[in-house]
Amino acid sequence: MTETISYVGLPKFEIEVPNSLEEALNLLHIHQTNCKPLAGGTDLLVDLRHRLIQPNVIIDVKNIPELKKLEFTPNELTIGAAVPISEVLTLSQIKTYYTALYQALNDMCDEILRNRATIGGNIATASPAADTAGPLYTHQAVVEVQSKSKGSRLIAIDKFFKGVKKSDLAPDELIVSINMPKPTINTKSAFMKMKRGAEDLALVGAAGSHNQEHTYLGFTAVAPTPVFLDISNLIIEKKISENVFQSIWKEIDSKISPITDVRSSRDYRIHITEILTRLILKEIIL
Ligand SMILES: Cc1cc2nc3c(=O)[nH]c(=O)nc-3n(C[C@H](O)[C@H](O)[C@H](O)COP(=O)(O)OP(=O)(O)OC[C@H]3O[C@@H](n4cnc5c(N)ncnc54)[C@H](O)[C@@H]3O)c2cc1C
Repeated sequence: MTETISYVGLPKFEIEVPNSLEEALNLLHIHQTNCKPLAGGTDLLVDLRHRLIQPNVIIDVKNIPELKKLEFTPNELTIGAAVPISEVLTLSQIKTYYTALYQALNDMCDEILRNRATIGGNIATASPAADTAGPLYTHQAVVEVQSKSKGSRLIAIDKFFKGVKKSDLAPDELIVSINMPKPTINTKSAFMKMKRGAEDLALVGAAGSHNQEHTYLGFTAVAPTPVFLDISNLIIEKKISENVFQSIWKEIDSKISPITDVRSSRDYRIHITEILTRLILKEIIL
């Protein structure tokens, strides 16, 4: 189906609504940088309105079965790229096994936007403040992407973000799903963020997960890309002494480079990052 759409405030574009993955990949292959996938539209429509992007073709991906999959098996969780956040939250295992992600999703946008916004769209936008990035790292997520030219490939979440609003995705690639292994029984995870008001983006977002083998931390809004740290080698015992905390903080501090903007000063972001790190570690380890 092809029709021309021209709403007040939006640039003109054609909209395509493929019903299969093959059809969608074909369209991406033909139109390349002249097209953009549309999931919930909560980022895309803002960018279109502000003329930050002017694609000729919008490809609505919400009818593609592979992108609507939401499944928890004994080994892993699969979240299709077009599953709205409100639907993800209905899966009881999210809260039990993927607590950091659950906490991030529950506090993202508002209730109405969560009915449209997706995790696929959140990471594809590649904002430094993307709330799902930290939790996805602490749950060791892998992103499945497909294109007609390269077929299917898996991108570990810590290799996905390449710069402010830049990701590892090629113009003809579509995120199909986000996959996370089932965590071991004693894994604890948590997410916290500091923000100015109910619907604002984070000043700082922090996520962590811990079990007998690994401790991972993820931060957002403190660098051009989300910041990920494997601090397993620094966690020697269940009690984190001030000395151990200072070694952890040294690693974090060397990786973050927050900016001053309308939401916060650089110094305040650094201060909040330290506080959130202490709180997250207390939540997941002690
Ligand atoms: C009022 C408001 C509040 C918000 N609050 C938050 C917040 O608290 N935290 C937060 O992190 N974000 C927030 N956002 C940003 C936005 O809602 C999220 O980033 C959301 O998850 C985007 O998902 P979407 O499905 O709407 O993406 P879309 O807008 O549909 O797409 C976003 C980008 O991803 C691309 N894309 C979409 N699907 C795919 C795919 N399958 N493969 C490849 N590329 C794809 C699109 O082409 C586009 O470039 C807010 C936005 C608004 C307007």
